Amino acid sequence: MDKQQEFVLRTLEERDIRFVRLWFTDVLGFLKSVAVAPAELEQAFEEGIGFDGSAIEGFARVHESDMIAKPAPGTFQILPWRAEAPGTARMFCDILMPDGSPSYADPRYVLKRILARTSDLGFTFYTHPEIEFFLLKEKPTDGRAPVPADSSGYFDHTPQHVGMDFRRQAITMLESMGISVEFSHHEGAPGQQEIDLRYADALTTADNIMTFRLVMKQVALEQGVQATFMPKPFSEYPGSGMHTHLSLFEGDRNAFHETGAEYQLSKVGRSFIAGLLRHAAEISAVTNQWVNSYKRIWGGANRPAGAGGEAPSYICWGHNNRSALIRVPMYKPGKTGSTRVEVRSLDSGANPYLAYAVLLAAGLQGIEKGYELPHGAEDDVWALSDAERRAMGIDPLPQNLGEAIELMQRSELVAETLGEHVFDFFLRNKKQEWEEYRSEVTPFELRKNLPAL
Ligand code: GLU
Ligand code: MG
Ligand code: MG
Repeated sequence: MDKQQEFVLRTLEERDIRFVRLWFTDVLGFLKSVAVAPAELEQAFEEGIGFDGSAIEGFARVHESDMIAKPAPGTFQILPWRAEAPGTARMFCDILMPDGSPSYADPRYVLKRILARTSDLGFTFYTHPEIEFFLLKEKPTDGRAPVPADSSGYFDHTPQHVGMDFRRQAITMLESMGISVEFSHHEGAPGQQEIDLRYADALTTADNIMTFRLVMKQVALEQGVQATFMPKPFSEYPGSGMHTHLSLFEGDRNAFHETGAEYQLSKVGRSFIAGLLRHAAEISAVTNQWVNSYKRIWGGANRPAGAGGEAPSYICWGHNNRSALIRVPMYKPGKTGSTRVEVRSLDSGANPYLAYAVLLAAGLQGIEKGYELPHGAEDDVWALSDAERRAMGIDPLPQNLGEAIELMQRSELVAETLGEHVFDFFLRNKKQEWEEYRSEVTPFELRKNLPAL
């Protein structure tokens, strides 16, 4: 038994932890959990715990349903809302096949596989997410519009305000689970919050995002409200993005940084951005996976004022340009480590393991194939006409999930990154969602057509 495993077993005893939850994530990004008694844990570390994978979204075909969850002791944390003895703790798991090989269906493995390739190239991949979400008075399940939990706006600071109490408690809970928070504030829409996590390697970040979503829902419930990560719950307000800052390091050196270069951006950094741009459309079904995701990033001129909230709609990059898909934040003199790129398409409803895997794959492709970075867009790209954008070579992101699926279907990059099983399952599942949506007569049509036709 290694040191980390020993530490877990000792802590269980000292803190009187009676339940250990083994966590993993399904292909669509939903958290799954199986609880084991502490007495079983030693064996779980050695052999894993068997479970029926066929019941998990995207995991196994029925004839090969036996799967094994093997806890990663480095991810051990006590759940703060279940900390009083007898307490509950959790660990993330790797999912294995009965023969002990990694499961091709495990999103965590999809990310680990490309991280291993990245490390063979000499790089470590760091990510820093800005997570937006809404607090609602309730979450109706019958299609009624939700009601935001407050009526504040961007950076508002008002006394006795549900968001403030919420953020204080939520951040305390995250910190007690080893997740560092850098910034938090009220976002632009009523009820909308943003909490930014400190940068970490991408696997840790993805695990942290899964924990984050649960903690936010938990704290919301304690305060009599509901948290949602749905990308665009309101037509009239901005949606919830999960902008993520990306960087590659070679040892201690930021591989995106070159002192004196334009925007202090190295060749590696420029090619990485070029890869993100060239593959942005085909990875969109993964970074923006729901029918609803495309209501957030749609940038039509007839969008109601204030409903877009700086979500990107067009494939371009800019220096400090918030209308661009990719933004290179202003360089802070002397901070060579901080050179990074912000991807603004990603939304809060994505599976973070798969989303980070495809973003990384796109950027690496740019580096490996030496893509040239096109000119940056320094204009507000929403304000340009279609013809002006075309002349500048700026294409829109996919307009809806159907278009995104079409593009993903033809993408070698996505197929290779997700692996055949996840790729096929994901496409099948998303096609079904798209077809269900297309077959529905919506309130819009009834409002628009029924009285007039
Ligand atoms: N809510 C916006 C989005 O959906 C982002 C606002 C911001 O710039 O933080 O991307
Ligand atoms: Mg924001
Ligand atoms: Mg941002």
